[in-house]
Amino acid sequence: MKGYGMLKIGSTGWLEKDVPGCGPMDAIVEPIALAPCTSDIHTVWEGALGDRHDMILGHEAVGKVAEVGSLVKDFQKGDKVIVPAITPDWNSVEAQQGFSMHSGGMLSGWKFSNFKDGVFAEYFHVNDADGNLAKLPEGMDPAAACMLSDMVPTGFHGAELAEVAYGDDVCVIGIGPVGLMSVAGTALRGAARILAVGSRPKCVEVAREYGATDIINYKEGDIVEQVMELTCGKGVDKVIIAGGDGETFLDAVKMMKPGGRIGNVNYLGQGDFIKLPRVEWGSGMGHKTIAGGLMPGGRLRMEKLASLIHLGKLDTKKLVTRTFQGFDKIEEALMLMKEKPKELIKPVVLM
Ligand code: NAD
Ligand code: ZN
Repeated sequence: MKGYGMLKIGSTGWLEKDVPGCGPMDAIVEPIALAPCTSDIHTVWEGALGDRHDMILGHEAVGKVAEVGSLVKDFQKGDKVIVPAITPDWNSVEAQQGFSMHSGGMLSGWKFSNFKDGVFAEYFHVNDADGNLAKLPEGMDPAAACMLSDMVPTGFHGAELAEVAYGDDVCVIGIGPVGLMSVAGTALRGAARILAVGSRPKCVEVAREYGATDIINYKEGDIVEQVMELTCGKGVDKVIIAGGDGETFLDAVKMMKPGGRIGNVNYLGQGDFIKLPRVEWGSGMGHKTIAGGLMPGGRLRMEKLASLIHLGKLDTKKLVTRTFQGFDKIEEALMLMKEKPKELIKPVVLM
């Protein structure tokens, strides 16, 4: 079969591989819709995961089941499914502890395009099919559903990590597709004011549609000053980080009230340290918490988030600003993600 992958750090290309084998609890899936991710860009061009050779990329997919193992109960050949980017081992002790995304070691619930071939292939392998696949609801647009693999669960996880509560003032730093879903998740959790930090006009427009009440342009001055001005010097209750780098934590801590909480879902692909401001962190005593996490995967989360789309409470189609037709377009879609033209939020490739 054909797949599109990382040949080595800094280089990608088409690969020819065997169709993966199916274990008793697993499934083999063929794609219906695929999306490249900023994480693929970090992985290849920043070498963020370290060296990977001839590894098929991609972790965002909606597909059709081609084969299931003998112990799989709830799925069969032909079922249309949503595939989460994170596919934990559900019988691990880490999962029992509530951190399924770290099953088998830190970040090891992230298997596609990390420890095994990803979804940019004619067929791909899904471990623990009953625990990780979700049926695609009848009538749901595959491109919209493809945003459930990673963008929705990650963006919403930012709001969970920050413990956004009713009436909170929240700043979302970075409004690419993940940050936009953090805005939407924050709005659904009942935040009062949502200050979105971004600059691209398309993202700003969509952020407002998802519930941002104020827009802060980080290219037009210090964002802490802008947040302080908008909040009459008080700062915000919570910050979600979905863009930036190791220095972004400086701003996030500075703009929060004592007792504030940062939810970071940004993938820090470069640098050895993150920075904290000593004084604004209360000299270590400000009760300002930093939580960072890989998004939880698995079937239940996919099913619950899919029902938000199904019932009209979340419209992920606003994220899909470009669609391609045909498997061969994966390369073009990935390169588009790398270039990130101004009007792009997320491309999807439909088979
Ligand atoms: P993206 O690159 O499209 O969005 C990030 C946005 O932040 C961009 O629009 C960029 O212009 C903006 N930005 C950069 N510097 C900034 C700054 N200083 N202040 C404010 N905005 C700034 O990426 P995305 O697809 O939205 O993903 C966001 C991050 O989440 C990426 O690092 C991605 O790898 C990561 N991610 C994490 C998980 C997880 O499970 N935690 C899952 C998927 C993606
Ligand atoms: Zn992704």
